[in-house]
Amino acid sequence: MTLSDTIAAVCAASPALEAGHVWLAGAGPGHPRYLTLEVADALSKADCVVYDALVSPEVLAFAGDAELLFAGKRGGKPSATQENITATLIEFAQAGRKVLRLKGGDPFVFGRGGEEAEALAKAGIPFRILPGMTSSLAALASARIPATMRGVSRSITLATGHAAGTDDDLDWRALARLGEPIIVYMGLRMIGEISRLLMEGGLPAETPVAVLMSATTPDERLLVATLATVEAEVERQNFAAPALIVIGDIVSMRDVLTADNQR
Ligand code: SAH
Repeated sequence: MTLSDTIAAVCAASPALEAGHVWLAGAGPGHPRYLTLEVADALSKADCVVYDALVSPEVLAFAGDAELLFAGKRGGKPSATQENITATLIEFAQAGRKVLRLKGGDPFVFGRGGEEAEALAKAGIPFRILPGMTSSLAALASARIPATMRGVSRSITLATGHAAGTDDDLDWRALARLGEPIIVYMGLRMIGEISRLLMEGGLPAETPVAVLMSATTPDERLLVATLATVEAEVERQNFAAPALIVIGDIVSMRDVLTADNQR
């Protein structure tokens, strides 16, 4: 069987994207090689694609003749509110369109996919969720940092740094006490505050931290620092969003896995 036969067989066995339905899908971390087969297939079937800022142009290039509608933030400015986005999805579905709502990574990992699915459910619009590879998995692979490993880590926490330092924040000190690796999404801007709270919670200042920017894209960059130094390093090396922050001893495994004979 050739690769195209395999793909054709997988796609033929997948449900059809029907008129009036919405598929809420994850496009993976950036490079199209991380698209799942069903999301690649959905791109060719949709007649409109409502996409977020983190969906790369290379992925959108697979959309065929579909109408492309940007519904994300650019330069930090919201160009569409969440209410507008859900209203658009509902309106398109009610007009009988085949709607693909495409988000970076996985739609249910910090993607507001939950809220959008809830709005579709309440409006009685039929929908499916198509998972995508969340960006942290691609980032860990690229940086050669295992998420879990016997003797080093038993769990991982995926956390948002978005609300760090606000009343709505999660309990970083409690996470520090767990002593297991933490992967922070949307945390670059608040990295100083997050590091401080984790050290207050008991993590040693020398705990290793990796920051991976624009994983799987041509702009991908990595830095490794410690809780004490990461804020200054991020600034010195001009790291910018999108970036993931990996905190914990598991980061040191990178030294073993990138030893001279392994590069
Ligand atoms: N649903 C997405 C996350 C959306 S929140 C997912 O599952 O990956 C947006 C955050 O995701 C960014 O601020 C950044 O922390 C992270 N992110 C997304 N794509 C990334 C990439 N290619 N490289 C590094 N971080 C990325």
